Amino acid sequence: MTVDVLAIGAHPDDVELCVGGTLAALVREGYRVGIVDCTRGEYGTRGSASLRLEEARRAQEILGVHRREFLDMPDSAIAPTDDAIVELVRVLRQYRPHVVLFPPPFERHPDHEAVHRIVRSAYFKSGLARLHTFGPDGTEQEPYRPARLYSYIQAYHHEADFFVDISQTFEQKLEAIRAYASQVYVPERYQSDEPETVLSRPDFLESVVARARYWGSMIGVRYAEGFLAVEPLGLRSLSVLFP
Ligand SMILES: [Zn+2]
Repeated sequence: MTVDVLAIGAHPDDVELCVGGTLAALVREGYRVGIVDCTRGEYGTRGSASLRLEEARRAQEILGVHRREFLDMPDSAIAPTDDAIVELVRVLRQYRPHVVLFPPPFERHPDHEAVHRIVRSAYFKSGLARLHTFGPDGTEQEPYRPARLYSYIQAYHHEADFFVDISQTFEQKLEAIRAYASQVYVPERYQSDEPETVLSRPDFLESVVARARYWGSMIGVRYAEGFLAVEPLGLRSLSVLFP
């Protein structure tokens, strides 16, 4: 089953935090959307891999995302190996998205930078006819290169190349983030003696709101998400910018 847009993240919850509003808006517009998490988040300070999978499925439902797949890369030890790149080639050839969303090149968590490099290489190699890969049913996959590749913005600051208005889906994004009760501060659904993390502090969600509000202010809307263009952005016609 193919999708129009595929968002790839290192850990379950990365995609919700960075592009949850954009994905929910695409679903509302009738596009098919998928998420691929490279790990199951098993190295996280709080919760467990199985709990995080449950939370990820719940977040997927909240956003209305059609497909979600978890790869078995090692949490906190992702490396841009040939195997990892070929695994992502298989993913791109299977889902055949027009647009891929993925982590930025310069990031606080080394896994995020590693996934950036893996996806960049896989994006190129998936179009090569002589790289043979096989789908889940064992049949050989057709070469395929997505049309566009954009980075979302994670922990570190980047000047966005463009913004997407998420005012209509911002509440859905917050609800999807709150589905990760073991990771973010949702005291009514998850209490533990585990160590506090940046995400689990009570003021973390405030920073998510403030950032979306700030990015929204850059384009005159209430909330937005920012993106980086890997290749220059071209417009079919200036008219696509007409109100
Ligand atoms: Zn992450």
